[in-house]
Amino acid sequence: MALPGSKIALHWRILIGLALGIIAGVIINTSWTRDTWAAMGVNSPEVLIKGGKAATDSLKPGNPNEYADLTARIAAHARQANEFVGQLFMRGLKFIAVPIVLFSLVAGVASLNDTRKLGRIGGKTIGIYLCTTALAITIGLLAANLAKPGKSFPEEKRIQLASQSQAAADVKVKSAETERAKSPWKIVLELFPENPFESMAQGKTLQVVVVGLLVGFAITLLPKEQATPLIQFFEGMTSVVIKIVEVILKIAPIAVFSLIVTQIADLGIDVLQSLLLYCLTVVGGLAVMMFLVYPLLLKVFTPVGYGRFFKAISPAQLLAFSSSSSGATMPVTMECVEKRLGVSEDVTSFVIPVGATINMDGTALYQGVAAVFIAQMFNMPLSIVDQLTIVLTATLASIGTAAVPGVGIVMLVIVLESVGLPLEGIAVILGVDRILDMCRTSVNVTGDCMVAAVVAHSENELLAPEQIAASSSRPLDEHPPL
Ligand code: ASP
Repeated sequence: MALPGSKIALHWRILIGLALGIIAGVIINTSWTRDTWAAMGVNSPEVLIKGGKAATDSLKPGNPNEYADLTARIAAHARQANEFVGQLFMRGLKFIAVPIVLFSLVAGVASLNDTRKLGRIGGKTIGIYLCTTALAITIGLLAANLAKPGKSFPEEKRIQLASQSQAAADVKVKSAETERAKSPWKIVLELFPENPFESMAQGKTLQVVVVGLLVGFAITLLPKEQATPLIQFFEGMTSVVIKIVEVILKIAPIAVFSLIVTQIADLGIDVLQSLLLYCLTVVGGLAVMMFLVYPLLLKVFTPVGYGRFFKAISPAQLLAFSSSSSGATMPVTMECVEKRLGVSEDVTSFVIPVGATINMDGTALYQGVAAVFIAQMFNMPLSIVDQLTIVLTATLASIGTAAVPGVGIVMLVIVLESVGLPLEGIAVILGVDRILDMCRTSVNVTGDCMVAAVVAHSENELLAPEQIAASSSRPLDEHPPL
C-alpha cells in the first residue's frame, strides 16, 4: 500500500505537513483560548502563556463549565490526539538514536584502520564547531545592538510578562544550578563512561561516541580472522537501523503535522505580539546564519551549492523545527547527510552525533540576542569586555546545552550571570521561548550538516551528486512504497 502523496519528494511532503499543521494549530489555538476563556471561566495567568494546557484541566468531569463550549472540547481532543501521534514518533526517533551512533561508529572506526585519520577528523570537527559558534554569537550580538529590541520596551509590559511567568522562570533558573556547579575538568571527565551500558541506557550521546570509538579501535587491534566477522556484524546492524530510519522518514510528514499542531495550539499569541521586535531580531540573526553564513562557508570550502545543500538536508531541518530537539532529529540528520548530501559514513557517524551534542550555533546566537535584549530592557549598558565575555560564556554554555527542547534558556542563566545581568529577564522572554527554540534548533542541525560537508570534502570523502545516485541502488525517495 502506498502512503498518500508518496510520489511527491520527501521534503515537499514534510513541508506540506508543516504548513497544514500550522493552520490547524492556529485554528485550535484560537478556538481553544480566546473564544472560550470567558465561557470556561479560565483566567489564571498560566492560560495567557499556555492557553491549551490549563483549558484542558478546566474540562475535567465535574467542572461546571464542562459542556460550556463544544468547540473548546473538540479542539482539546484534537490537540491531545496530535500530541499522542507526535510523541509516538519522537519515541521512535529516540529509540534508534543510541543504536545508530554506536553501530555506525564501531563499523566505521573498525574498518578505518587509520587512527591518525580519526584524530584529524576529530580535530577539524571540533575546531570548526567552536569557530562557527563564536561567529554565531557575534552575529546575535550585532543584530541586537543594531535592532535595539529592548531599548523602548515598556516597563509595565516587562512587569506584566515577568509576573506571568515568574514561577516557570524560577524552575529554569534552578535547573541552571547543577550546570553552573560543574568545573571544566568535570565536564571533560564526564565524557568517559564508567559503565557503557548506563551511558547507552541514559542516552548520553557523547559517552556513546566514546564507547563506539573505543570498541571500533579495539577491533582494529584484533587478528583479521577475528575482526572480520565483528565488522560484518556492526555493518549489518547499521544497515538494520538505517532501514528503521527510512521507515520513520516515511511517516515524518504526518508526524511533523502533529508535532506542529501541538506547539502552535499552545502558543500564547498575545505574548508573541508584545515581544515581536525581540523575536524578529532572533529570527533575523538565525536567518543570516542559515541562509548566508553556512552557504558562504560551503561555497568557500566545498563544491556543494545552495540548492543541493538545502534539498538534501531539509527533512532534518523541518523535523528539528517541529520537534525542537536536535538530539531526537539526529538519526534523520545522519540519513540526510549520508544518503542525500553524499558525506561518507566515517565522517557522518562521527561529525553528526558530536555536533548534535556540542554544536549549537542557533542556541548561541539566541543567547547573544537575549542577553543584549535584557541589558537594554533594564537599562544596563554592556561594554565591549562584557560582550566578549558573552561570546566566551555562550560558546561554552552552548556546548553544555543538552540537545532537547528548552535547555537553551536554562544555559542563558549562566550567560546572564557572567556579566551581572538580572535573571528576572528570563521570566520576560520565557513566553516566546518555544517558538524561538524551534527556529534555533533548525539552525543547530543545519550547522552540523554544513560542518559534515566541509570535513568530508577536506578528507576527499564527499560524493558528487552523480556518485550519490550511483552508490545507492535505491535512493531515499525511490524506495518501494510502504
Ligand atoms: N532545543 C535545542 C536543541 O535541541 C537546544 C536549545 O536551544 O534549547 O538543539
